Formats: sequence, structure tokens, C-alpha cells
Amino acid sequence: ETVVSRLELQIHLREALAGGDFYLEYQPVVDLGSSQVTSVEALVRWDHEGRTVPPEEFIGAAEESGLIVPLGEWILREACQKVAVWRISDWDIGLSVNLSAKQVLSSRFVSTVAGVLAETGLPAEVLTLEVDEELLLDDGAEAVASLSELRALGVQLAIDDYGMGYASLAHLRELSVDAIKIDPSFIDDLGRDDTVTLLTHTIIQLGRDLGVQVVAEGIERPEQLEQLRAMGCDHGQGFLVARPMSADGVEALVGGEVGVAL
Ligand code: C2E
Ligand code: MG
Ligand code: MG
Repeated sequence: ETVVSRLELQIHLREALAGGDFYLEYQPVVDLGSSQVTSVEALVRWDHEGRTVPPEEFIGAAEESGLIVPLGEWILREACQKVAVWRISDWDIGLSVNLSAKQVLSSRFVSTVAGVLAETGLPAEVLTLEVDEELLLDDGAEAVASLSELRALGVQLAIDDYGMGYASLAHLRELSVDAIKIDPSFIDDLGRDDTVTLLTHTIIQLGRDLGVQVVAEGIERPEQLEQLRAMGCDHGQGFLVARPMSADGVEALVGGEVGVAL
């Protein structure tokens, strides 16, 4: 039964890509010092039978079937096009796009990224590609080779959900990354659990010492924001700051002020 429904899901996903049923939301990332929006993270959604399906319900199946490669290319192109247009109006906004391991390891990926940048005119340095650190564990050498080529194009690399995997410190040395995104589970326990608070502080300090940008994800409560600022965390993202929103919603932010009191 599970196999059949998995196969059905994969068929639906293929139809959805052909039918244009995926769309992107963008979640602002702010500079915690100035409260300005510095970039947006593209997050994919599936409009299916009148319901919005979150990525957690279909990314796994898209990876298994290999559809993540064309889907990921669509996501990258769509997001780069949008942000390139926003930048024309003199708004210095960056873009983050999430990558699956399958994409990074697919043979044409580096040239796909180069092609999309050339097509959309988005400068490479404003694009950040987010990867999970598991990628470095499971397919270490191959992944590092591909990510290094991407970095040579001038794009930035970020480690998503940082702190959840093993040997996190070793990876930062192995691969030069530009940013780490602290996992929301750390932010959630900030100020409630002494060990987690200390670890968060240490990650922020480590980032600063290594010259790596630190982004705290999942900021929901004002006291978390306060603590992160006090710890010297550069950037933040979370429902308190701004929820993921449509492209139209982002356009309303042009000028850089978020619609919340930070
Ligand atoms: P992620 O890259 O860590 O993205 C952040 C997720 O946290 C988003 O969920 C966002 O809506 C959610 N979030 C943001 N702020 C808060 C907060 O304050 N509180 C809480 N509870 N959640 C918050 P979303 O959009 O459901 O995405 C989930 C995951 O799916 C992403 O985690 C990412 O790993 C994956 N994903 C999303 N879009 C893509 C994509 O285009 N390609 C790939 N390969 N994966 C994607
Ligand atoms: Mg992400
Ligand atoms: Mg994350």
C-alpha cells in the first residue's frame, strides 16, 4: 500500500511540474543590527487539489524519483528571475535557495547554476545555496568537489540546520562556507535550557571567529531576538520577523523595512 501511494505521489508530482502547480514563497532574512531585510529564502509549495502542500510532504518523494533535479532547476530559475527584477529597482536584496543532495551530485548541476545566472542576469555573489551538512557526511568527496566548483562561480554557500549533524566543526574547515544557519531547535530553547543557550552562543562566536555569517532560524519570541542580538548574531529569520510570503508580499517590502516592530 505504501509503495503504491508513493508511486502515485511521484506521478502527481511529475504532472504538477508539467502543469505549473508549484509556486514559491519567500521568507525575509533581516540584519539584526539594522532590522533591514537583506535577503529572502525561496521556499517551494505545491498547489494540489485546492490545498497547499508543504515541502516536507513531497521533497522526499521528489528526491527518490529524481524529479528534484528538474524541479530544483525550476525553483532556482523562478527565484533568480524574481530577485533579479527586484534588484533592478535599486533594492540590494540577496537570495537563498535550498538544494537537495541529489541536485548537488547530479552531473550538470554546476552548469545549470551558471546558465540560470547568465540567463537572469543575477550577480553570482547575491545567490546563496543552502545545503544540509549530511550531504558532506554521506557523499563527502563528490559533494565537496561540486560545491567548490559552485563557489568558484562566485555564489555563496550556507550550511542549513547547522548543529544537528555530526562533526559540524570539521566540515566548516573542510569546505569554505560563507554562512551557517543555526537550527530552529536551538533558537526554540534559547533562554530556557542553559546548555542550548551556551551552544548557541558558541556557534555564533565560532562563526565570527571564522568570518562566517551566522543566521538564526525560527525566531518566534521577542526574548529570543533580544538574546541573539546580545550574542552578536548577524542575521535572523522567523515568524516574529516575517512569515514566508508571496512574491507580491515581498514587493510590498521594497525599501527594506519589515512590517513588524523589531
Ligand atoms: P529550511 O530550509 O530550514 O526552511 C525553513 C523552514 O522553517 C520553512 O519551512 C519555514 O517556513 C520555516 N520557518 C521559518 N520561520 C519559522 C519560525 O519562526 N517558526 C517555525 N516553526 N518555522 C519557521 P518550509 O517552507 O515548510 O520548508 C521546510 C523545509 O523544506 C526547508 O527547511 C527545506 O529544507 C525544504 N525546502 C523548502 N523549499 C525547498 C526547495 O525549494 N528545495 C529543496 N530542496 N528543499 C526545500
Ligand atoms: Mg533553508
Ligand atoms: Mg533551516
